[in-house]
Amino acid sequence: MSEHLLNIAQDYGSPVYVYDTSTIIKQYNRLTDAFSSVNKLKLNYAVKALSNISILKLFNSLGSGLDTVSIQEVQLGLKAGFDPEDIIYTPNGVSLEEIETVAQLGVQINIDNLSILEQFGTKHQDIPVCIRINPHVMAGGNTNISVGHIDSKFGISIHQIPLLLRIVENTQMNINGIHMHTGSDILDIDVFLYASEILFETAKHFKDLEFVDFGSGFKVPYKAGDIETNIEELGKKLSNRFNAFCKDYGKELTLAFEPGKFLVSEAGVFLAKVNVVKQTTSTVFAQIDSGFNHLIRPMLYGSQHEIINISNPTGRERFYSVVGYICETDTFANNRRINEIKEGDILCFKNAGAYCFTMASNYNSRYRPAEVLIHNGEAKLIRKRETFDDILQNQIEITL
Ligand SMILES: *Cc1c(COP(=O)(O)O)cnc(C)c1O
Repeated sequence: MSEHLLNIAQDYGSPVYVYDTSTIIKQYNRLTDAFSSVNKLKLNYAVKALSNISILKLFNSLGSGLDTVSIQEVQLGLKAGFDPEDIIYTPNGVSLEEIETVAQLGVQINIDNLSILEQFGTKHQDIPVCIRINPHVMAGGNTNISVGHIDSKFGISIHQIPLLLRIVENTQMNINGIHMHTGSDILDIDVFLYASEILFETAKHFKDLEFVDFGSGFKVPYKAGDIETNIEELGKKLSNRFNAFCKDYGKELTLAFEPGKFLVSEAGVFLAKVNVVKQTTSTVFAQIDSGFNHLIRPMLYGSQHEIINISNPTGRERFYSVVGYICETDTFANNRRINEIKEGDILCFKNAGAYCFTMASNYNSRYRPAEVLIHNGEAKLIRKRETFDDILQNQIEITL
């Protein structure tokens, strides 16, 4: 693998993102296998994790749907060949106009606040709507990705169910789905099951449901010792509970999930070249040809991506602080044990499939990296590295 990745860095230059379809397919199958006792299962891949159109086409070929959070993600999905009915749109804080436009495309709408719900329901009784509930159950992880707490901006609070029911009754709107997304990083399956009970309880209020959507938040390990959500155990327990609920409800509903990280995180690596090895009186820095303009997760969420020196994978281990070239502190790793690094070596950052390229920017007027997809062992370019024209595009020079 190291050899193959080194060749890719050579052929396509650095920095570069590399994804492997076999890992995505493996994770997709793990999830469908875990819920195989549910007759109607729908996985809607969360586009915002990794939105390259070739990746979306892969998900389409697997039979996945899409979870989208903006009209642009919807448009990408349609362009990738998805049917509108296989796309769910779960925005937060967007305008009524955008929601109406997406609804006209035939995409499933998911509404997460009472104000828009009332306005939408009054104007479009005929369009079925899913509602996003906030069960106020805290999933673990970084506070920026925790969305279940009481003062979270996401979802309609379970404490406002009476208000919600009044709006639905007054508008006579059609509620066909009920949804929660408790945030990234489910550590404890029982906490997730507890939130699910709240969702089931809420679901009983609605007579015309077609699906119950449990969102996502499946945790994947980033570094040694990290906990991974036990998908197999969750699958067994939730499937049983879901099947029992459907029996009580009197109808076979669809069980939906919208995983992002679980499906693509481990499928991606980020390759960057060491420009400078800088020894100070206290630290050895390895400075790479990148920064938080390309990979912001370590600085934004404190996430620790494992780093491997693929140019010297068996060399003696030393301690390095891996930093970028941005004119601001951009530390990827602090005093990490890595096989001895020389200038020109290629470092490989693992778990770089989810929320990495999609969060890249042009800060410091640098180009966003290329993306390469390995399919059946063959590397293919799926996004060109940007050029100076991309930096200037849309800028308007005026005379002053
Ligand atoms: C981001 C997001 C997801 C995906 O979360 P992961 O932790 O990447 O699996 C799913 N649903 C909604 C509504 C989201 O905003």
